[in-house]
Amino acid sequence: MTFKSGVRPSGKGVSTSGGSRRGGGMPVMIGGGGVGTLLLIGLFVLLGGDIGSLGGGTSQQNQSQNAPEGFDLAQCNVEGAVNEIAECRAAATADSLNALWPSVLAEQAGLDYSMPNLRMFQGNVQTGCGFASSDTGPFYCPRDKTVYVDVTFYDQLERLGGSDGSLSQMYVVAHEWGHHIQNLEGTLGLSDYNNPGEDSAAVAIELQADCYAGVWASRADKGADAMLEPITKEQVMQAVQTARAIGDDHIQERSGREVNPDAWTHGSSEQRQQSFLAGYTSGQMKACDTLNRGVYN
Ligand SMILES: [Zn+2]
Repeated sequence: MTFKSGVRPSGKGVSTSGGSRRGGGMPVMIGGGGVGTLLLIGLFVLLGGDIGSLGGGTSQQNQSQNAPEGFDLAQCNVEGAVNEIAECRAAATADSLNALWPSVLAEQAGLDYSMPNLRMFQGNVQTGCGFASSDTGPFYCPRDKTVYVDVTFYDQLERLGGSDGSLSQMYVVAHEWGHHIQNLEGTLGLSDYNNPGEDSAAVAIELQADCYAGVWASRADKGADAMLEPITKEQVMQAVQTARAIGDDHIQERSGREVNPDAWTHGSSEQRQQSFLAGYTSGQMKACDTLNRGVYN
């Protein structure tokens, strides 16, 4: 068990689609150049306008079509579904994030919170930042303030050595929520995957999102309104295992390449672990100040 018994997702801001697998023209995200391969395992942020340049594809074609029905969220309205079905868990995680961030953001950064949307899709999806496929991995689009998740990504995570444990799956959603927080902070635009490297803004933004996921986790099981049962050490270790699995050095090793910090966009396994834990152990945004802004209370 992870969510307390009785928890049902509200469905607020959550939508699903089956995507639309087009014949012929393939999704645009996996493009040529060095960037494409890095996008495979993301948890990243898409800044609109860059998509076309990554793959050279067009993003307009599907815009007016109705997306096929996706997962039916009504399936989440039975006891235990939030702990058994990945889509339901993600939808409930969104509720938990939306419950916690308003006060944290106001108290620690002096900012108002507005909730993002969560779109769960399969296959391909049209977004405010262009056309994307599941190969992209989970991502956040600031233009439509939406977190996009294809839950089959969790299987991919496992193959990479990550965990498909409950907190691990939630960490993925919470990381993308972190990008939404950065959007509200006005810092998200600093992310630039075309200028990677260990000390790049892209890495700083990604590590901060990991840390913000930790801030959420540190609070999600506390207080009378907590939706989660107390998080166990084992669950934390599973989230850490996943954070390590998607470290840039690990991904480079797995793909048979040399470890090259100059190509990093998300940070090393060690950095990602430390960032998540920095947020988790402190519960404080200021522990996540990878951009050295010094603005947090
Ligand atoms: Zn990210």
